[in-house]
Amino acid sequence: SNSLSKPDPRRKPPSTGTRVSVLVPLPFPGPLDYLAPMSLEPGDLVTVPLGRRETVGCVWETDRTLPQDFALPVGRELPLERLRPVVGKMDVRPLPQSLRRFIDWVAAYTLTPPGLVLAMATRIHLKDAPKPTLGWVRTEAPEGDLRITPARRSVLNFASSTPMSTAELGDRSGASAAVIRGLATAGLLREAVIAPAAPFGLPDPAHGAPKLSEEQAEVAQELCGPVEAGRFQVTLLEGVTGSGKTEVYFEAVAACLAKGKQVLVLLPEIALSAQWTDRFIRRFGAEPAVWHSDLGAKRRRETWRAVAEGSARVVVGARSALFLPFADLGLVVVDEEHESAFKQEEGVMYHGRDMAVVRARLADASAILVSATPSLETLANVESGRYRHELLTARHGGATLPDVSLVDMRADPPERGLFLSPKLCTAIDETLEKGEQAMLFLNRRGYAPLTLCRACGHRMQCPNCSAWLVEHRARGILTCHHCGHNERIPKDCPECHAENSLVPIGPGIERITEEAKLRFPEAKLLVMSSDTLGSPAATAEAVRKITDGEVNLIIGTQIVAKGWHFPKLTLVGVVDADLGLGGGDLRAAERTVQLLHQVAGRAGRAEHRGHVLLQSYVGEHPVMTALVSNDFQTFMEQEAEQRRPSFWPPYGRLAALIVSAPSADAADALAREIALSAPEREGVQVLGPAPAPLAVLRGRHRRRLLLRTMRGIAVQPILRQWLGDIKPTGGAKVDIDIDPISF
Ligand code: ADP
Ligand code: ZN
Repeated sequence: SNSLSKPDPRRKPPSTGTRVSVLVPLPFPGPLDYLAPMSLEPGDLVTVPLGRRETVGCVWETDRTLPQDFALPVGRELPLERLRPVVGKMDVRPLPQSLRRFIDWVAAYTLTPPGLVLAMATRIHLKDAPKPTLGWVRTEAPEGDLRITPARRSVLNFASSTPMSTAELGDRSGASAAVIRGLATAGLLREAVIAPAAPFGLPDPAHGAPKLSEEQAEVAQELCGPVEAGRFQVTLLEGVTGSGKTEVYFEAVAACLAKGKQVLVLLPEIALSAQWTDRFIRRFGAEPAVWHSDLGAKRRRETWRAVAEGSARVVVGARSALFLPFADLGLVVVDEEHESAFKQEEGVMYHGRDMAVVRARLADASAILVSATPSLETLANVESGRYRHELLTARHGGATLPDVSLVDMRADPPERGLFLSPKLCTAIDETLEKGEQAMLFLNRRGYAPLTLCRACGHRMQCPNCSAWLVEHRARGILTCHHCGHNERIPKDCPECHAENSLVPIGPGIERITEEAKLRFPEAKLLVMSSDTLGSPAATAEAVRKITDGEVNLIIGTQIVAKGWHFPKLTLVGVVDADLGLGGGDLRAAERTVQLLHQVAGRAGRAEHRGHVLLQSYVGEHPVMTALVSNDFQTFMEQEAEQRRPSFWPPYGRLAALIVSAPSADAADALAREIALSAPEREGVQVLGPAPAPLAVLRGRHRRRLLLRTMRGIAVQPILRQWLGDIKPTGGAKVDIDIDPISF
């Protein structure tokens, strides 16, 4: 509501105009109709009256036929003379049609009011629309009988059709601002918008092109085909870690640049953008535009504008970059496409990977999905022939894949109270002695995931969530990773008051660091987790230390698993390979394989062979078998066979309904009401209600229902009909998550 401002009461309503529909950044079911007294184009940003205020909105259609399945604009039934007039048009570039259609698409797919998608897409922009800088240009008007003084003559000599600011024109001509204004009053100069300097350099497709291997060259050619033809085509680029996937898709980027079109590359983590940018500069000799939520307001505006004008040729960013106003998009790349980080879990719940494909289709662009361990969704699309598939089988430069072996923690346990097995410790000793680097991976922040009273068994729990408090010893606190609640670590048990009875159970990364310091006192240690790396710059510095060999033992959470290239790293130890397998989530195994395979892929990327040790208590689990045999395909086929018969995604469609309320009773009541009106139809099934994965979150009690349908049946119309009559009260609500990532 920040975009609302008081209307000017002196403004007189115009009497004539045409009908336009305007999407405002508010939760209406569709655009609102207004009377346009001026000439407007679809995409124009305008100020419109709304109730007793004004808001900025976007002209959605000037005269449109509505897509089926779409809410009618409010006010459509009103006769023209009763519509309220548009107040004014903003002097900025209109939102391109491909973006407007994308916003409609995302709204319809995620069942979000389109105005809220617009609000998300243009958050900063609408609130803080850039004021254009004005300058002076010479008009066509003749000098006539105006008295031309030497100062005036000088100004007229310097003024041209390229706008110049008052300061610049004054400097050049030696005339004062008053002289310039006088010429404007006389009609010889007029104001015009000064185009801002393009903030991004022009990438050169031929700069730093590598010599590709035969396999790489063949794959690159396949990727370039659709880009050069300028048509929509999705290709899965699968390749073992270190096979040169980035180098290869850079060729498609080059092809797109050569056509004069724009490229969007999505990364799962902002933290990766620095290393990616370095590589991009080496390859193309210019910087890409970087887009993520941490950009300053000024940079955001510049980037937004440069993308709209087309002067930003390549954008690398987080999923929100999908909503940039690309002038002429030719290629969308999703790197590490299997990553669940592409899913937005709050507000508009969309999956960045899936929406990237939609974005490409609506812009007639190509899409490349990149991964060493593709998601089952993408593999299913390959199987059905919707996506093409390109495979890189060899690591670049003859580097071999790391060998992966298990440490059976039942047979080879660590000493009491410790977490690193003798076998893993020996391997680290050997690696460090050879002057190489080792990495310990544990996907758990903090010191210990659970704090327990030895005397009464009391567990320290979050007061707002059904979750344990995690000890962060460095900060002396217990904290909840879900709501951010934190408290000091008590000395005595809050339940039975036994003294000094609280003990940490299980390891977090801080505890592993403590153990490593004792066990490897000579090692030069570096810890990488979101707690130690606050900013992209801190991440870049850590990466530099690793690459330059200033450290030799790296300890990290999932952030170390990402697409880093660490040439000196030869040993990866996974402290708890079983972590993530519990919890009853059907997708847990797939996610664990993808994560651990990716961590493993950090080892041995240069001349020395890499080794990976997985500490596990369940060595016979299919996940461990897949990792040790490096047979990802068999594993995914087994996964597919488990999901196919009962239509779990990707073999059916799924939506989660999260019912939440301030009390457990209210949540149960609403969940029951919803369950009672559940659709009964062939090929449609409703599961639940059951407690949601976090049964209490931030003080709200949560229940979950799952709607599962056979592939050919869309969930959106069913949900719209089903929930249409449900009116939650008393602070209760239903959030819909289409294609939830865990189920
Ligand atoms: P992936 O993305 O598949 O893990 P990368 O694209 O990061 O692989 O490549 C791994 C390393 O090999 C990088 O340092 C990359 O620059 C290098 N590389 C790959 N292909 C070539 C090539 N044809 N010429 C030179 N270097 C290459
Ligand atoms: Zn909490």
